[in-house]
Amino acid sequence: MSAPLMILPPSALKAAEVARARKALKGLYADHPGTGPAGETCGSCKNLYRKHMGKTYLKCSLTEKFWTGGGGTDIKARSPACSKWEAEGQAEGQRESPKG
Ligand code: SF4
Repeated sequence: MSAPLMILPPSALKAAEVARARKALKGLYADHPGTGPAGETCGSCKNLYRKHMGKTYLKCSLTEKFWTGGGGTDIKARSPACSKWEAEGQAEGQRESPKG
């Protein structure tokens, strides 16, 4: 006996793809990864903040008011840039985090 066939509407498939992509890129990004300039990543963005504790945790400084002490708000340097991406050295230069 074969398994029952489940057909999902296109909207459900898209939602499933988005959920899968978000799970793969869990973290707190300023916008959806991949919505920024092609070829750029969080690692090349001036908003990437490296929080040095016992080890280094990567955060997006634009989401600072939502940071927690847990890994749920960490981001990955290799994640595709979001729409808020800014080149390092642009405008204000390297940003310091008030949370230190
Ligand atoms: S590309 Fe820049 S602004 Fe966007 S989430 Fe990454 S570090 Fe933050």
